[in-house]
Amino acid sequence: MKQFVVVLLMGLLGVSTGFAAELNLYSYRQPKLIQPLLEAFTEESGIKVNVVYAKKGMLERIKAEGVNSPADLVLAADIGRLNDMVEADVLAKTYSPMLESAIPSHLRDPQGLWYGLTQRSRVIYASKNRVSEDTELTYESLVDPQWRGRICMRSGKNVYNVSLIASMIAHHGEAEAKTWLTGVKANLARRPQGNDRAQAKAVFEGQCDLGIGNTYYYGKMATNQKKPEQQAWAKSIRVVFPNQNDRGAHMNVSGAGVLKSAKDKRLALKLIEFLASPKAQAIYAHQNFEYPVIQGVDADNVTAALGAFKADKIRLTKVAKYRATASKLVDQVAFDQ
Ligand code: FE
Repeated sequence: MKQFVVVLLMGLLGVSTGFAAELNLYSYRQPKLIQPLLEAFTEESGIKVNVVYAKKGMLERIKAEGVNSPADLVLAADIGRLNDMVEADVLAKTYSPMLESAIPSHLRDPQGLWYGLTQRSRVIYASKNRVSEDTELTYESLVDPQWRGRICMRSGKNVYNVSLIASMIAHHGEAEAKTWLTGVKANLARRPQGNDRAQAKAVFEGQCDLGIGNTYYYGKMATNQKKPEQQAWAKSIRVVFPNQNDRGAHMNVSGAGVLKSAKDKRLALKLIEFLASPKAQAIYAHQNFEYPVIQGVDADNVTAALGAFKADKIRLTKVAKYRATASKLVDQVAFDQ
């Protein structure tokens, strides 16, 4: 009763009681991508979202703040970053019938620690000029002698590559994955370097004939008005989805999780539910050329033009389990050297 009176008084005096519906989001993902989604959420729900953006040091910050962290939920790309948060034990178990029915089970944590909100595939950027259209490509075939000195890749330690290598371990075991990684290294045209787009650029410039990169970068390059030279890089490559005759192309997600420090976990989950709604999924698809995780929402036209493909449906929690081993293999075969 006393508490109620205090809150009432504060309300009358116009003092913020902290009871207004408001969420604090920690995001690894760029403001440009997230802002339109959050605006749509606030418009629909009346809930204000404060965002802290950070590319590095986010987890350290969450850990340092502990239970006193103002953060309610976190948004991150790649199962690697989501898994780091699981291992740091900062995510809360949640239950949402809406999210369980909307998001396929292999794209979310079984205990509701995190939910995949967009999908991307890690594909092969093949030179349109120098690699014939009917060349069947698998991740495994990257070790074929025909590709000697013809492959470009970014650092093996990059979060996307660690996940890809982890998926190879999940499918073939550690020993076979190590042999494979050694074989890929032997076929590299140059020391691993640059980001995903740099691999397309290298194909464009003739330094290599195959590059490895995420699907959405194709859309970002193909439509880039600020840096129109990237349109030429995109034009020079064919996006090849590997392993179409067996398990399908390696997939990863961006996703979100409610933090243990959340004041109102139900409220935080509301934002994740919104991000999995058809409205938000369409914004994601057009804003960043990613694939929706729910049924009934189309990919952006540029993404859709890459064609339908078979996706590897392995549970991402299973892939995440092998990330540490994958990273170790990168060191063991001196992949980046
Ligand atoms: Fe990326």
